[in-house]
Amino acid sequence: MDKRGTMMQTEISTTFIIFGGSGDLAHRKLYPALFNLYKRGFIKEHFAVIGTARRPWSHEYFQNIVTEAIEESTNDTTGVTEFASHFYYQSHDVTDTEHYKALNQLSDQLEEKYQTHGNRIFYMAMSPRFFGTIATHIHDEHILGRGFNRLIIEKPFGNNLESATVLNKQINASFDEEDVYRIDHYLGKEMIQDILPLRFSNPIMKAIWNADNIASIQITLAEQLGVEARGGYYETAGALRDMVQNHIFQIATVLAMPEPKNLTAHEIHESKQAVLNSLVEPDAAELAHDFVRGQYAGDEDTLAYVAENQVSPDSSTETFIAGKIKFGVGPLAGVPIYIRTGKRMAVKQSVVNIIFKNTTNLYDDASQNVLTLEIDPTNTISLVLNGKRVAHAGLKEQRLIYEYEEHIKDDVPDAYERLIGDALVADCTNFTNWHELKSSWQYIDRIEQFWAQAGKKGLHQYPPFCMGPKEANQIFESATDKWI
Ligand code: NAD
Repeated sequence: MDKRGTMMQTEISTTFIIFGGSGDLAHRKLYPALFNLYKRGFIKEHFAVIGTARRPWSHEYFQNIVTEAIEESTNDTTGVTEFASHFYYQSHDVTDTEHYKALNQLSDQLEEKYQTHGNRIFYMAMSPRFFGTIATHIHDEHILGRGFNRLIIEKPFGNNLESATVLNKQINASFDEEDVYRIDHYLGKEMIQDILPLRFSNPIMKAIWNADNIASIQITLAEQLGVEARGGYYETAGALRDMVQNHIFQIATVLAMPEPKNLTAHEIHESKQAVLNSLVEPDAAELAHDFVRGQYAGDEDTLAYVAENQVSPDSSTETFIAGKIKFGVGPLAGVPIYIRTGKRMAVKQSVVNIIFKNTTNLYDDASQNVLTLEIDPTNTISLVLNGKRVAHAGLKEQRLIYEYEEHIKDDVPDAYERLIGDALVADCTNFTNWHELKSSWQYIDRIEQFWAQAGKKGLHQYPPFCMGPKEANQIFESATDKWI
């Protein structure tokens, strides 16, 4: 046990090879996550990390960078010097075949030095346009180890179904599907992982989690920031591809999937796939009415999207989308799931609201019960019930709140720590499998094609720091529904 009483993990011996070792993700997320896994004993003595990027860094310089990344992420840096000594750097252009040979040699040396049994975890943490190139070189230059070989790959996985299929083939030349860990960091978040226990361990939830009782669901993933330095990437993506295809579809699936036979990764993925296969395809009229896209305008203090760096002044890329999706099977078959996500919105918040049907004739002033799962910035579950107004007639909304105790809040692992830990122990439950990805791309492609034909028609401007264009309020099936 460690000092928090958490069970220590048996060490997994491996060499990590990180493509994009000088990047933002590696610095802010991957190195702190690996350090926490080190402190928890997932990795200990028999591990090495090779960071690769184009810059000509030495091992020592890289170790200093890693140490800095840890110091920026935590006050408890005990052991960081020993931890960082396992890090090695290789200057590497992912398009240069010779560099893969050098990478293989360094991996072999470190495997010998740290006795990692030929186990290798490759992490693609760089621009997605290189994922296919790296996969092809891993295959052609034979840089798989003689132990286990796993691939962790960042989003986005392709830009549409066609490119995702090509990438998948390139990857499958070296890695079996069960060894491919497609990161969707929302699946590593505590509140998302709380959905299955909430739904299936509580008889009262199981009893009401169906289309007879649930009127609709709203999923909001709102950011206040604009595209910042990622304008170039965002121009190739937009809110639909960047947030809906992956995070929102995964959240909706976990909310709507039927009860799995058991909690193995296989059965959970089977259950998710069952609902994804049943996604109800919108027709042209529904595509026009149910999906609203927007682009943030500017004001005296804030740049409009089209004025951002690396963004075309004529861009029709959406920075906001609201929409309605439905599944055809499962407990929520036919229940509208309203989704919205965007940049430059009024708040930074990720939240799910489950809205229950109002079935009483006795009280005119009864509110709908709403179960809220706040994923960010807090981890909170709350339930709005009707109660009697104290000392008066009539009803008043009462909110029951479930939140973690203060000392537990510190224990909530970052999504990357959780997911890299899962990949180390070969648990693929909280990663996106190929079939899930295929279903979601099929659906997204239809919307993208519809929008491509419409051009800028239907792209609504919205002022910065609001909840998107007003047209997003008109997608509800019921005239009385509105965004919570
Ligand atoms: P970044 O631009 O900060 O880093 C890119 C890395 O790739 C750098 O190390 C750079 O040196 C390296 N690189 C570029 N061209 C190269 C080449 N030809 N050969 C070798 N190395 C090369 O990118 P990032 O923000 O760290 O994002 C990496 C991945 O993580 C992307 O897929 C992104 O979508 C995903 N992601 C990032 C974040 C984040 O917060 N940064 C969040 C979620 C997902």
